[in-house]
Amino acid sequence: MFQSNLWCYLWDLADEGIDEALDRIVGEAGVAGVSVATSYHSIDQLRPHAGVTPRRFRSPGGLMFQPCMENYADSRIKPVPAHWLSSRNPLADLGEGCVKRGLTLRGWAVCCHSSLLVSRHESCAVINVFGDIDPTWLCPINPDVGEYLRLMIEDLCGHYPFETIELERPTFQYRPHVHAHRKVGVELGEIGQWLYQLCYCAACRRAAEQDGIDVGAAAHTTARTLEAIFTKGVAFSGTPEHFAADHPELKAFIDWRCRRVTHLIASLRQVCTARLVVHRGGDHYLSATDWSAIGRHCDATLSNCPHDDGIILDAVQAALQDTGDIRHVELGFQATAPDCPDSQTLVRSAATSVAAGVNSINIYNYGLMSFSRLEWIRQAIRYAQREATA
Ligand SMILES: [Zn+2]
Repeated sequence: MFQSNLWCYLWDLADEGIDEALDRIVGEAGVAGVSVATSYHSIDQLRPHAGVTPRRFRSPGGLMFQPCMENYADSRIKPVPAHWLSSRNPLADLGEGCVKRGLTLRGWAVCCHSSLLVSRHESCAVINVFGDIDPTWLCPINPDVGEYLRLMIEDLCGHYPFETIELERPTFQYRPHVHAHRKVGVELGEIGQWLYQLCYCAACRRAAEQDGIDVGAAAHTTARTLEAIFTKGVAFSGTPEHFAADHPELKAFIDWRCRRVTHLIASLRQVCTARLVVHRGGDHYLSATDWSAIGRHCDATLSNCPHDDGIILDAVQAALQDTGDIRHVELGFQATAPDCPDSQTLVRSAATSVAAGVNSINIYNYGLMSFSRLEWIRQAIRYAQREATA
């Protein structure tokens, strides 16, 4: 059974009118489901659709639903509904609208990337070896973060008709996100950048020690290496993998982080009564992701791919290896400019996916694209559906 979903922002659907927007999505894009952001980072978005105000939507992020506050009574991190919701809860209307139309509803939760929650709970942030707080990222190893994420997923699954929950970034970050003008006048190189963002927060140190990891030695190597880069102004050559291979104390810490991130995802799986899909991104060293281990704790991994046949096929192969079943492989594609230049490009990527055996395609993002592109999606989905059932 071929499945197609369109990623959406709830504010776009709510401002256009949920029924009107869903009718347009079904009628013009022809997708079988929508995936709506339920927990999101800060955004500054240009909205091209006729009649929406404001044309430029800005939000510091937060939850896109009214949390059931009593569920979080024992949680140190308290949920923060997005400011634009005011007292409304359009997610409930969206759930009803999807059920009425037979549309699949998926919830897309951004997990650890939250400047909003870091600003309220600095001790839950990623904190590097120098004690610098990452203003954009919660530490996935911190037990308070894990507890909060589990409660959020329980809240979502318990109150809305989600068929799938997608987890985005239930991990450390692999590409630094910054809001301010970043000033770095030293060439850190790949190794320096990696070491600089490694988390040595109190929760990581405590948990690593409990598990018998010499976190003090790993931190010492990290700090000493960074100091050498800062002093000489020369980056180390090589990759994090090579560097870790030469420093067993660091390698042990890095491998341990991966096990802990997998453990977090496994614990989210335990409370998720919907299907659980994890967005792929990052690696063993930066994001602390071991995809073959994570593949055992979710229903599918989702790879966001550029419109490039070679990259799509490699992504399918990698995901298939990790999950062991093509039914556990999902792909995501941009239908927005500039990544998607024309309808043929989208049709071609859908065709390549289906030819590789993939039966779930996700398209990004309703509120970012011109209405004219809904027809491109319809063409791509129709082609893929026909090929999948041929
Ligand atoms: Zn940490």
